[in-house]
Amino acid sequence: MSPTLPPTVKPLTGPQKALRKLGLVRPIDLALHLPLRYEDETRLVKLRDLREGDVAQVEGRVTHAEVRLSGHRQLLVTLDDGSGTCLLRFFSFYPSQQKSLAVGNLIRVRGEIRGGFAGLTMMHPVVKAAGGELATALTPVYSTVAGLPQSYLRRAVQAGLARAELSDTVPAKYLQEIGLDPAWNLRQSLSFLHHPTADVSLDTLQDHSHPTWQRLKAEELLAQQVSQLQARRARAGLRAPVLTATDSESLFARLLATLPFQLTGAQQRVVAEINQDIARAVPMHRLLQGDVGAGKTVVAALAAAQCMDAGWQCALMAPTEILTTQHFAKLVAWLQPLGVTVAWLTGSHKAKERRDMLALIASGQAALVVGTHALIQDKVQFHKLALAIIDEQHRFGVAQRLALREKLASPELEPHLLMMTATPIPRTLAMSYYADLDVSTIDELPPGRTPIVTKVIHDARRDEVISRISDQLAQGRQIYWVCPLIQESEVLDLTNATETHAQLSAALPGVMVGLLHSRMPAAEKKAVMNLFVAGQMGVLVSTTVIEVGVDVPNASLMVIEHAERFGLSQLHQLRGRVGRGAAASACVLLYSTGDAPRLGETARERLKAMAQTNDGFEIARRDLDIRGPGEFMGARQSGDAMLRFADVLADAPLLDWARRTAPVLLDQQPDLAEQHVQRWLGSKIGYLNA
Ligand code: ADP
Ligand code: MG
Repeated sequence: MSPTLPPTVKPLTGPQKALRKLGLVRPIDLALHLPLRYEDETRLVKLRDLREGDVAQVEGRVTHAEVRLSGHRQLLVTLDDGSGTCLLRFFSFYPSQQKSLAVGNLIRVRGEIRGGFAGLTMMHPVVKAAGGELATALTPVYSTVAGLPQSYLRRAVQAGLARAELSDTVPAKYLQEIGLDPAWNLRQSLSFLHHPTADVSLDTLQDHSHPTWQRLKAEELLAQQVSQLQARRARAGLRAPVLTATDSESLFARLLATLPFQLTGAQQRVVAEINQDIARAVPMHRLLQGDVGAGKTVVAALAAAQCMDAGWQCALMAPTEILTTQHFAKLVAWLQPLGVTVAWLTGSHKAKERRDMLALIASGQAALVVGTHALIQDKVQFHKLALAIIDEQHRFGVAQRLALREKLASPELEPHLLMMTATPIPRTLAMSYYADLDVSTIDELPPGRTPIVTKVIHDARRDEVISRISDQLAQGRQIYWVCPLIQESEVLDLTNATETHAQLSAALPGVMVGLLHSRMPAAEKKAVMNLFVAGQMGVLVSTTVIEVGVDVPNASLMVIEHAERFGLSQLHQLRGRVGRGAAASACVLLYSTGDAPRLGETARERLKAMAQTNDGFEIARRDLDIRGPGEFMGARQSGDAMLRFADVLADAPLLDWARRTAPVLLDQQPDLAEQHVQRWLGSKIGYLNA
């Protein structure tokens, strides 16, 4: 008997793989891959009407051609169209091209006009014979990746557009509410955007204000809202353990009574919001946002206490090992005296330790489990998990959050989910965007904190900064010095950090200067961190591994080297490592411009924002201004764009409409609503609701 062969599958070609990489799989995906910009091949322009920077198509006669050998070998061609002349320059060329550019030939060229003392110039224009037909529509230019030529992509998109099922899924009456003409249906809108007629204003296409763009953005937002609403409704049908803490003997009450501080008003409010949620038999799905240092950990601990009071297990997942170490230490200090066993699970535990932890978790003896994403691995079996808390949730990939959800789902009871983040988005935005999340916000810092003073200083004044370090050390303070990591093709460049470490060690005799970076073995990291936490180490030079969570109140100065290379929210997170005690704290942003005379615009804006405000919400708002909100939503950062076309800030009216329309569409035409979501989000649905 012949063995059964798997069906023959043709291997994907390079461009096909590239399409896949871009997520362009279904015809509809291709149809929705809209142009970045357009080229105008519909007209011929006279040279006298052209100015520097114009991209244009011109026809004329070659009046001069020569290969210049001095300096760079190049082919220089003069084109005359009767209204003026233009110099064409080619640095590489084949003999065949040279032939088509011979004196006397009539040619059509397309390219960007540059000025220069030779008059109008085009570098490497596209050359054709004159007299061919002109395009009837603008030529689309799509975003692409290496290995996927524009011409291949154009054909693929064209084929996708022809094959995609594009019947309208948004009823006309809803579109009319936002002033959209339903006569322009989806198919027409898409055809137009891929091949606009030449008479359209390019500006309205470029800034996405054209009605066809409005329609697509509205549709996208609607899909996103409907999908979240579906998820919310599906969850409403699920059951979760009811977690209540009632009497004064409860763990919750005892923890509250033994904490070394009083909760702030904001903490009390969010604790109450969470308590109410988890006391219901419906799974909680809540985002807790609060600036760095706002005190989210204790809120998590109180939620965990309430969960354990009801006899259930709680898991707290954090993105880095150091962070889980700190959480573990803190939770043990708070809860162990009250009789709670806390387990701790990371990727680097020894086999024996790990087995013990797994046993504690599986038996339910450990009512609280802290860990990295090691928590979502197969080996981990919870006994009775009722509450999952994800700290710094934006640091986890969407896929990891999804894995956690899947891991925790049980046939009978679903756990409650609390996600915490220190990169807040403005509250109103959060409320309308996250249709599937309830949002709690800690908008107040614990009392007694002195605001951090931030200074932006050129690297040329490094010596002054180092002498400032000496002053701080003399006062018994500790210092963080952060260096960026340059990561190129998986090789970490630690030169910067190691050089700085050597420099500071030499400049500060008698002071322990430590070095911490992400490539160090976990045990070594732990040892360095312990010395710093214990106050023995004066200066900690580190790559951004200290970014999240660590808490050393005696550290009062942070220097960030090459601050211009960091993103705004990253800088804010880093800065949040100081100013955690009562002492006045400072942050120095050292910048260097490299070979350039000055910093680029965005880098300048970022550093300025840092110097002007300490408020995480304000930082988030500025970040939105500087970067655009798309990048802010988390998904785009990890490569799974949630919104491709719409912009939650700029398109607030459309978002508002989508939010109102989603429940109506879902109730009145559920099939249509489902079709709409499938079309827009397809295989991404699971991701979106993770
Ligand atoms: P984050 O919100 O950034 O996770 P943490 O939970 O790490 O902040 O809290 C920062 C510091 O503030 C910790 O040392 C914590 O114990 C302390 N803290 C939290 N709440 C209060 C409070 N209400 N009063 C005083 N200190 C507090
Ligand atoms: Mg924290």
